[in-house]
Amino acid sequence: MISMHTSPTASLGKNANGGLNVYVREVCSAFSDRGIATDIFTRLQSSEDPVFEALAPLSRVIYLPAGNGLDKYSLINEVPSFASQVAAFAASAGIQYDLLFSHYWLSGEVACLLRPQLAARWVHIAHTLGLVKNRSLASGARPEPALRIRIEAEIAQQADLLVASTSDEVDELVTSYGANPDRVFVVPPGVDLTSFRPLDRAEARRKIGYSGGPLLLFVGRLERLKGVEIAIRALALLSDRAHPDLRLMVLGEDSRDADESEKDRLKAIASVLGVRDRVDFLGSVAHHELPYFYSAADACVMPSYSESFGLVGLEAQACGCPVVSSDVPGLRSVVRDEVSGYLIHGNDPAAYAERIGRLLADPQMAQQMGRHGSLLAQRFSWNRTADRLETLFDRVIEDGQARVQLNVGRD
Ligand code: UDP
Repeated sequence: MISMHTSPTASLGKNANGGLNVYVREVCSAFSDRGIATDIFTRLQSSEDPVFEALAPLSRVIYLPAGNGLDKYSLINEVPSFASQVAAFAASAGIQYDLLFSHYWLSGEVACLLRPQLAARWVHIAHTLGLVKNRSLASGARPEPALRIRIEAEIAQQADLLVASTSDEVDELVTSYGANPDRVFVVPPGVDLTSFRPLDRAEARRKIGYSGGPLLLFVGRLERLKGVEIAIRALALLSDRAHPDLRLMVLGEDSRDADESEKDRLKAIASVLGVRDRVDFLGSVAHHELPYFYSAADACVMPSYSESFGLVGLEAQACGCPVVSSDVPGLRSVVRDEVSGYLIHGNDPAAYAERIGRLLADPQMAQQMGRHGSLLAQRFSWNRTADRLETLFDRVIEDGQARVQLNVGRD
């Protein structure tokens, strides 16, 4: 596994640490349960970090010194050094891997340099795509550079197999990036259904120390892309009307790659709107504590400008929390409009306020939506994700072996 950008052991919801990290961690744990060993190559974050860390019985993280403190755009310059350290590690340990699985464009570029020497076959997952992000940027957000998009196209055309989280992502890879449709497969990510399940609301509120009225929740990295401003504006609209005790909890921290602090910007907006005292910025919260927050909330709000999947929406639904989200491809594959929450077209805070108002006005309907959400979430689990990946990986490895035999035969 190449995860150069971020580490599966990093604390979530800040800097660039979010869905990708959860994905790598959960898939490697599920693979370990199946007897499939993984080495995850990532960057050393501090000099105190160990060189190795066990993630699961058959999975270890290998930390390599490269580009500490650099933003993602500068990290591309570190790719050759990172790749040669991976190669040197494998050579000194005498390991020949069966497969490379790269995550995000930076790691894809690492894999481009390493194969076929390090492993005969290479599978890539983009997690997000620069072209898709640029198409629906929040105002003031920094566009993804042309270099990233060029590299993504190179990866899409060269990897032996591409994993996409949704069928929309398949279309993008094929039509916008020139991938061969026969080599792109949908494998939805999952949720840990044993931890993320509906808990008693009163008990959950006690656990998180909340004794107020109706509660909205936002969970995620704080960047423009996540649209938290829209949630704050919706709260302000609702506070003026029938919900004077409504609060919004914001879980997550600033992204290091951003030019300015999104948290400071959001606080300033809340102050101007007169709702600063109704928005609690709790910073990043440990993943295992999130089921209490989702179970305590009346709605989870996800006004993202784009989302390749949206694990938060899935986790909220698994906990029986209705989701009010933007109608973007990733979230469309998780949230069912009017069934497990609401999908909202466009970025108008009034539309969010209207749907949240509907949920607050009819607790029975909200509960029903929560129940539907937790039922829908049962279709997604990391075991299922790992099953599908394993099948695809077996096929691509066998295909590689068959080609080697064919070439030997020709010689
Ligand atoms: N997360 C967390 N603590 C936080 C904020 C986020 O554990 O304070 C986790 C969240 O539960 C989810 C992931 O980070 O599993 C974010 O994934 P998502 O796909 O929603 O967004 P991404 O980061 O991939 O854009």
